[in-house]
Amino acid sequence: MQILVKKFGGSSLADITKIHRAISYIKKSIKKGYKVVVVVSAMGQETNRLLSLYDKLDEYRESDDISPLLASGEQISSSFFSIILNKKGIKGKSFQGWQLPILTGKQITNSFIKDIKIDRIKKCLKLNVVPIISGFQGVNEEGRLTTLGRGGSDTTAVAIAAMLKAERCDIYTDVDGVYTADPRIVPEAKKMSKINFEEMLELSSLGAKVLHTRSVQIALQYNVKVQVLSSFKGKNGTMLIKEDKSLEDQVIRGIAHSTNDALITLIGVRNKPGISAIIFNALSKECINVDMIIQSGSSSDKEVTFGFTINKTDVSKTKSIISKLRKKLSFDSSIINTSICKVSVVGLGMKTNTGVADKMFSELAKNNINIHVISTSEIKISVLIDDKYKELAIRSLHDAFKLSGLKKRNV
Ligand code: ADP
Ligand code: ASP
Ligand code: MG
Repeated sequence: MQILVKKFGGSSLADITKIHRAISYIKKSIKKGYKVVVVVSAMGQETNRLLSLYDKLDEYRESDDISPLLASGEQISSSFFSIILNKKGIKGKSFQGWQLPILTGKQITNSFIKDIKIDRIKKCLKLNVVPIISGFQGVNEEGRLTTLGRGGSDTTAVAIAAMLKAERCDIYTDVDGVYTADPRIVPEAKKMSKINFEEMLELSSLGAKVLHTRSVQIALQYNVKVQVLSSFKGKNGTMLIKEDKSLEDQVIRGIAHSTNDALITLIGVRNKPGISAIIFNALSKECINVDMIIQSGSSSDKEVTFGFTINKTDVSKTKSIISKLRKKLSFDSSIINTSICKVSVVGLGMKTNTGVADKMFSELAKNNINIHVISTSEIKISVLIDDKYKELAIRSLHDAFKLSGLKKRNV
């Protein structure tokens, strides 16, 4: 039995015409002899609407009932999709995460998938019924409904494809593949016909929301063939592939950005052993993830400045932690800056080529863009800049690294 998993994102399900188009892809695959499993996200901007309703009720996002509320968007779209599919003469059945079940860790939001029971899916496929599964949601061992983090229905789809040993997982979205940068910001961005897992992992974790980071991790771990393609054009998209030597010829492959971060600066912190541990322990106790960290001042200074970035959604919680820390550590002041953007250049070729940092920083300097924080790994360089320079920085870096051209070496 050759199985295809097809995942449709919010924009691909925004109205009835779009759902009909999605169904036409299912029809085509069935005609070719495939068994099809569908995973759906919420329709259009539904999750954003639900989240803004929730935020009016609970600023600190502390209630366990955030997940059933947010996941209700997927319940609507899977049942809607199934009703239309059956009307079109294709037998289909909707499933919520708990009905399979999709078992996750304890955590209510940003939960990890532990296991997926596929018996019900297999039974449907044997009877030529298309299972339509709500993405983004699962159930934990206490029977509570959990969600996988924003964009998590990609992860549901790839995890199901892994469990079913599917032929391929098609991620249908509103762009026709993975581009060298967000095509909404860089109109000249180029679609890649293939991209290496490692590069895709960096791009998505640094903000390219075209794929949920954990979906890429699962695909890599379980050898799932993943394709990102447009639900409007239906042409070939971008395939995720294992390392390919020829891709390394191009040093930089893409640019990612994220405006989800806030920069916290603590000024006048006493420079003595154990201070960092106290600060970051207080944050970790409250499950606040810290990304970039900077400490300025020399080892002989009496006081230093600490900077670190957190997710914007954790700002309220962090404010109250900082005020407690200030009493304990008596530093001078703190600044919370939410008008920042992280811009990153990514490429496997950075492992073996020098000159990327020089080119990146020179280009930003040429445009008079100040860098607040820098962080690097083997295959990426990230800078934190003021949000107002986001477009300028991304477009000029895209140009400087010649990402829209076909030239191979760009450093
Ligand atoms: P869906 O609702 O289908 O899951 P998303 O909004 O989550 O879609 O992801 C698709 C969006 O990702 C595109 O509209 C695009 O603006 C954005 N995006 C960011 N970076 C990239 C990139 N490098 N290539 C393609 N799309 C990108
Ligand atoms: N509907 C959820 C969200 O908007 C999950 C997804 O789209 O993948 O985050
Ligand atoms: Mg998405």
